[in-house]
Amino acid sequence: MAMYRSFSHIVCSRHMREISRLCGSHLRCLSSLVDLPETHALLRKTCRDFAENELAPIAGKIDKEHTYPKKQVETMGELGLMCVSVPETDGGTGLDYLAYAIAMEEISRGCATAGVIMSVNNSLYLGPIEKYATKAQKDQFMSPFLSGKKVGCFALSEPGNGSDAGAASTTATMHKDSWVLNGTKSWITNGYESEATVVFATTDKQLKHKGISAFLVPKPVDGLSLGKKEDKLGIRASSTCNLIFDDCHIPKEYLLGEAGYGFKIAMETLDAGRIGIAGQALGIGQAALDCAIEYSTKRISFGQPISKLQTIQIKLADMQTRLESARLLTWKAAMLKDSGKAFTMEAAMAKLAASEAATFAAHQSIQILGGMGYVTDMPAERHYRDARITEIYEGTSEIQRLVIAGNLLKQHGS
Ligand SMILES: Cc1cc2nc3c(=O)[nH]c(=O)nc-3n(C[C@H](O)[C@H](O)[C@H](O)COP(=O)(O)OP(=O)(O)OC[C@H]3O[C@@H](n4cnc5c(N)ncnc54)[C@H](O)[C@@H]3O)c2cc1C
Repeated sequence: MAMYRSFSHIVCSRHMREISRLCGSHLRCLSSLVDLPETHALLRKTCRDFAENELAPIAGKIDKEHTYPKKQVETMGELGLMCVSVPETDGGTGLDYLAYAIAMEEISRGCATAGVIMSVNNSLYLGPIEKYATKAQKDQFMSPFLSGKKVGCFALSEPGNGSDAGAASTTATMHKDSWVLNGTKSWITNGYESEATVVFATTDKQLKHKGISAFLVPKPVDGLSLGKKEDKLGIRASSTCNLIFDDCHIPKEYLLGEAGYGFKIAMETLDAGRIGIAGQALGIGQAALDCAIEYSTKRISFGQPISKLQTIQIKLADMQTRLESARLLTWKAAMLKDSGKAFTMEAAMAKLAASEAATFAAHQSIQILGGMGYVTDMPAERHYRDARITEIYEGTSEIQRLVIAGNLLKQHGS
């Protein structure tokens, strides 16, 4: 709690003004932010210390045992990490998205599962609520979800449509004073632990994606059951499951934003969420690189550490270059969002570059470790498994390329 308070105080208006100044004026000097502002540097150090001391030591065990890191998530809440960019006026930490991206990287460097739990609560759950909820909705669905004691989830995907989110078949119909939800949402992160969810359902099928609305649903609630916990390749300590709605009645006041605005809310939420996933990917990739550097300086082959071999050095150089390039894209996307500018294309580029850099780095890390990369005694194999999801959720790499090309062509008037 002490740490949380110190963030709130350190993020004084002088620093925030300085950050806004640097973020504004056409991002004129991204390079000036390479030395992070004091606030962000302090945040990074705090997250790094926490991740090294409290997340990295348990990451392998919770992955093996599929255990939700409840205590660690609550500590992250005390550090202000479960509501990084929620304004202080709403009870949040009141930092910007650059801070969020940096925190996501550092937390995920220690434990990718902690990273995904944090990202879902911050950007997918609290993000749309912060922007669209009424005061009464915020009191019920936001305030209790800031401290890490309760987490939320985000239910957009369905068994029949993931990338094509506008084809949602879950329905919401009005009955007396209630919305009645029917349908199945799939792959929902935090599905087991969450105590509320943002759900997308169609209120008018004729209108296709323009007929989708967003709803707030408390959990547990009658008419909502959970599917089996998915047995995943990576991020295994987070739960992923179906949410099955069977005549689930919720009060009409639980509509989030206007009816028919759900698809817009979902797409805006994912734009911002992709910056967080880019941060998660950077953290996983960086952990893979750290592991490879450490091992290569200790492993002796042909009478010398393998780090002296040019083939190994080339791999390390390529890992570092791809991660650092993706980091700059991620910070740029965050800074554009912080300055109120369009950032859809940059967020897609950041997520694409960071996720591909992470899978590349994790692949090379295993190669550098040789046989030791392939067994669970070392974390390299976990990084390899964890990295893979960053190319799939919140829009696959193929979808990011569609978003980037679509925006690029629009800019050129095509
Ligand atoms: C561990 C995990 C956690 C998740 N968490 C959540 C969550 O919390 N909430 C949530 O709502 N969803 C969540 N998802 C769902 C995730 O966002 C989807 O899996 C993802 O969007 C892809 O959808 P899909 O699986 O249906 O694949 P599909 O859409 O069926 O795609 C299959 C393949 O076809 C390609 N493809 C599809 N359409 C196109 C196109 N137009 N052009 C080019 N290629 C295309 C895809 O890129 C992919 O390679 C999660 C998924 C996983 C695995």
